[in-house]
Amino acid sequence: MSETESCGAPGCSRPAAGTVELRPLCLEHFLTSCYAKLDRCAQQLREQPLEKSTVESMQQFVEESARQATHIAHTVDDLDNLQRARLLDILLWAGELIRRLRRGPRKAAIVPIQLRSETPGRPWEEETKTRMLSRHGALVECHHPVQVGENLKVLRLDTRQEAQARVAWQRRKGSGGSEIGIEFTSSVELWDVD
Ligand SMILES: [Zn+2]
Repeated sequence: MSETESCGAPGCSRPAAGTVELRPLCLEHFLTSCYAKLDRCAQQLREQPLEKSTVESMQQFVEESARQATHIAHTVDDLDNLQRARLLDILLWAGELIRRLRRGPRKAAIVPIQLRSETPGRPWEEETKTRMLSRHGALVECHHPVQVGENLKVLRLDTRQEAQARVAWQRRKGSGGSEIGIEFTSSVELWDVD
């Protein structure tokens, strides 16, 4: 990146710190535009079975964002704490998306399940259903508050098979519940996506 190049966002003349899809951007605009694009990738990954070419271009974008965020963190001297936190956030998020992209296709499928949390002091169980399946997990509707990283037991109600899982991410919905992504942590896998 040349020293003289300036930000390509409308009305901004700060020096470029990175690029998003080949467009040079200042640090602020890089961060904002990376966030927005990563958010779109995450949403696309949740919502639809994706074409191979889409997955490849998402992979490229996510890897490039992570590369640039690392580069900025090492080369820009006057970062403030918030900017550092946002760069780190982009790195963590990109890492999570790369793992999800590698995990392969998802299939829309409704399977009745019971989720059970054995958190001391506030155990709960809930009958719900999956919305999407992947080989190592599922997208599930959940009405109890959960934390990312929390362990849950998942009982498949039709086959009575049970597996351990952890909450990989969650998205709150307006209705009060949330959609959660679960990943199996035990070797038992409840469904065969292939
Ligand atoms: Zn700018």
